[in-house]
Amino acid sequence: MDRAEDIIHKTQQKYKLFGINKIREISRLIFEISKRDNIGFDIIVNEINSNDYVVVKNFLLKKRYPTTFGKVSKNSFYLPDLNIDEKNKAILTAEPKFNPKKIFYTKDVIGSFLYNRVKILYPNADFIGIESIKDFLKTHEFSIEKYNNRKDNLFLINEKYDFFKKCPCTKNVRCCNYSILNIGYGCLYECSYCFLQGYQNVAGIILPCNLPDFLTLDKIKPVDNKMFFLPRVGSGEFTDSLIFDDVTLFSNDIVKFFKENKDISFEFKTKSINIKNLLKIGGRENIVISWSVNAEQMIKENEHCTPNLQSRLQAAQECIKAGYSVGFHFDPIIIYDDWKDGYKQAIEMIFDFIESEYIKWISIGTLRMVSPLKKIIENRFPYNTILDNELLLSYDGKLRYETDLRINVYKYMFEQIKLKNKNIPIYLCMENNDIWNLIE
Ligand code: SF4
Ligand code: SF4
Repeated sequence: MDRAEDIIHKTQQKYKLFGINKIREISRLIFEISKRDNIGFDIIVNEINSNDYVVVKNFLLKKRYPTTFGKVSKNSFYLPDLNIDEKNKAILTAEPKFNPKKIFYTKDVIGSFLYNRVKILYPNADFIGIESIKDFLKTHEFSIEKYNNRKDNLFLINEKYDFFKKCPCTKNVRCCNYSILNIGYGCLYECSYCFLQGYQNVAGIILPCNLPDFLTLDKIKPVDNKMFFLPRVGSGEFTDSLIFDDVTLFSNDIVKFFKENKDISFEFKTKSINIKNLLKIGGRENIVISWSVNAEQMIKENEHCTPNLQSRLQAAQECIKAGYSVGFHFDPIIIYDDWKDGYKQAIEMIFDFIESEYIKWISIGTLRMVSPLKKIIENRFPYNTILDNELLLSYDGKLRYETDLRINVYKYMFEQIKLKNKNIPIYLCMENNDIWNLIE
């Protein structure tokens, strides 16, 4: 495999008459083929018997997208410029330990429970007052390189508007009416596909100090969806729901509130096994601890620094014993050589560890991402294999596997889960009605 900048240089030398955009597309395609097949520039271009742009591009597209070339519109192939910098590489430590060196706080959080607790937990950190995060960003420019050190910085703020909202979902899909309780921004894990790495513009972890103000029935207003046993609210959209729970103890307030409001279900969505506080306070049926799960190989290759599948399932067992319900999210499903076996084994493990009656839902979603995330992933995880697949620009501008492949995945997963239990609600995350209709 050649380095990105060498490929650009060689492409410019080889195709001297091509303009900037043509060089961008051709070098991008050569780079992706070179990376996927582990072969050099010369081997790829020596196969092309022409210097005509259309011939060269079609040859490369066919090689890069062997199953979808000729089947989908050429606009489906996303070919951004190549801009990879070594210094953007993610830092993959075995177990992320949160030990912030700098703690930024707004004045209005002084005296709050979380502020006081953080003072005790991190006595050696520098505490620095700020006006607001917006103000902080005026003098602290964000970069991907700085994002890699986000665990060094903690921001304590009072959240004013964004605590509770309907899940933004995406255009033209069947929405499951999920609502989100926003308990922070940022995560210490390093999943290669994480959308936060392209979404967050602050190189730190942001935690709100005024959560209890928002746990009231006039602010928590979920929407019903007959598919589920109760209207659903959950955390875990912009952070992992439990990764900071030993610091924040948010679960104390949340579990108390939803124990008193039994006609709403609350979901803690996580990959962590940070359940000590949950076990201590004990749960109720409407409080669902749910784990994002994946085929073991995909956990190893893509969910860096996270607990393995067995540890997640053992944590689920403990939570059930403490009175909680559980849920599972196969999201994102990643296509790889043995994906069928890998996901079948994961399903089998779930049902070996967990009695079906406690599982409130299972969701399924295939790998998808906003297109700019592709460049961030290849910078942060240069050895990833998730981008080697044929990801196409889709109906909502996101990159996805082609429709037929996604349908195959969903059919297979539904079949495997139903073989274990027919009654557990299974839903697709971010898929349109046409696909739903084929699966149901
Ligand atoms: S389908 Fe997925 S993205 Fe859409 S509302 Fe439900 S949880 Fe959110
Ligand atoms: S656990 Fe979730 S939030 Fe954390 S890095 Fe992975 S995908 Fe992102």
